[in-house]
Amino acid sequence: MKSEIISNLVSDIRGAVVFPEDPGYEEARKVYNAMIDKRPAMVVKCVDIADVIAAVRFAREHDLLLAVRGGGHNGAGLGTCDDGMVVDLSRMKGVRMNPDRCTVRVEGGCTWGDVDHVTHRFGFATPSGIISTTGVGGLTLGGGIGHLTRKFGLTIDSLIGADMVLADGSFVTVNAEEHSDLFWAIRGGGGNFGVITSFLFRLRPVKTVLAGPTLWSLDKAAEVMRWYREFIISAPEDLNGFFAFLIVPPLPSFPQHLHSQRMCGVVWCYAGPAEGSDAVFKPIRDFGPPTFYGIQAMPFSALQSASDVLYPAGMQWYWKGDFVNELSEEAIALHIAHGSRIPTMQSRMHLFPINGAVHRVGAVETAFSYRDAKWSMVIVGVDPDPANAEKITSWTKDYWAAVHPYSLGGAYVNFMMEEGVDRIKATYRGNYDRLLKIKRKYDPDNFFHVNQNIRPK
Ligand SMILES: Cc1cc2nc3c(=O)[nH]c(=O)nc-3n(C[C@H](O)[C@H](O)[C@H](O)COP(=O)(O)OP(=O)(O)OC[C@H]3O[C@@H](n4cnc5c(N)ncnc54)[C@H](O)[C@@H]3O)c2cc1C
Repeated sequence: MKSEIISNLVSDIRGAVVFPEDPGYEEARKVYNAMIDKRPAMVVKCVDIADVIAAVRFAREHDLLLAVRGGGHNGAGLGTCDDGMVVDLSRMKGVRMNPDRCTVRVEGGCTWGDVDHVTHRFGFATPSGIISTTGVGGLTLGGGIGHLTRKFGLTIDSLIGADMVLADGSFVTVNAEEHSDLFWAIRGGGGNFGVITSFLFRLRPVKTVLAGPTLWSLDKAAEVMRWYREFIISAPEDLNGFFAFLIVPPLPSFPQHLHSQRMCGVVWCYAGPAEGSDAVFKPIRDFGPPTFYGIQAMPFSALQSASDVLYPAGMQWYWKGDFVNELSEEAIALHIAHGSRIPTMQSRMHLFPINGAVHRVGAVETAFSYRDAKWSMVIVGVDPDPANAEKITSWTKDYWAAVHPYSLGGAYVNFMMEEGVDRIKATYRGNYDRLLKIKRKYDPDNFFHVNQNIRPK
């Protein structure tokens, strides 16, 4: 591209444009998953809405492939691309509280840690994920599942509006009244419809929680899964608990004799009144009882970042997921066969409950269609060593292939690699055609296609 054209872009951008020959390029092109090794032609580090508009218009005018990066955590590496432009929002980190209205406005480059840092100070939270370094952008646009899901629903169930830059470079505000079709679509439909420069969330009163894992030895896994599948469906919604197969990490929060052992467990979070907690936890203490009972009172923001240390950026990641409604005896046997062969310390299988408040929103009220599923499952192979990439990938694929027949067919878009259009259709089910219509209206040329893509043509 001619230097004159490039210098026009550079002078339009208040942030920075990083090119392959620049010293910061190697850092700028990196995403969280080190298995992704793409080389964009430029990374535009936007600092405000005007930068985003300038970048989108430039890419459009010059027919550049465009990727949008929020937190860069996407497993499939959808926050970057080869040879095109990356709109990197990571310098857009404003978090603005409105305690009177119980809302928070969050800029598109924030991580959940940025948000928790502010909201926790006021005794509030927005339901998010389980690792604080994950981006607000991608997690929210896909749905958002975490420690408060049963009580307050998905992250999108607390979203009340957003500011967006569309494919033609125009800027719109979307909410229940304005561009309500777009507001519907971005609640689950991913990055297909534009660049979200800020999100407006409703806040939930959450300050201190009772949280932590209970672990059991693998010979109890079948019993634990049978108990868990019944318990978590009828437990009070103040309580969340996701099931896991794991290798106990060598952290001081776990007794040393359990370090590096393969175990199964549930990670709990109780966000209800203190006086009710004993009765809620009694069945958990009584069942088994667990080999390790790690539940304790902690600030919600501490829970949110408790596992960050295990998952620094720059590791190899490969994951696959499914929505699940039943844990049959056959499925349990297969889970145990594969879950007990976890290949590396950071690899896991999680069954996140998505019942409770999630089920009170209808399947067509937002783009997220699986409002009837009980769990969102993710099988995730993770390791720092690139030499183990094949090992973690094949474990994930084999495990998924074995249990997929016992699933509902679609998967949470944020727990998918690039798995093709049929998987995306299976994920949106009856909502796919409506997403397609909205995509055709706002992005008929599929300018935004580095995502779990709804193809307009
Ligand atoms: C360690 C780890 C833990 C996780 N835990 C959870 C969890 O507990 N719950 C859960 O629900 N998910 C979880 N996830 C999955 C996570 O939701 C997805 O990986 C998500 O895509 C990450 O969003 P991001 O903004 O960090 O990613 P990015 O790679 O930056 O973006 C992902 C996708 O979203 C789009 N996008 C991002 N921001 C914007 C924006 N502002 N405007 C338009 N498009 C945008 C991108 O274009 C891309 O298509 C986890 C992921 C990791 C790696």
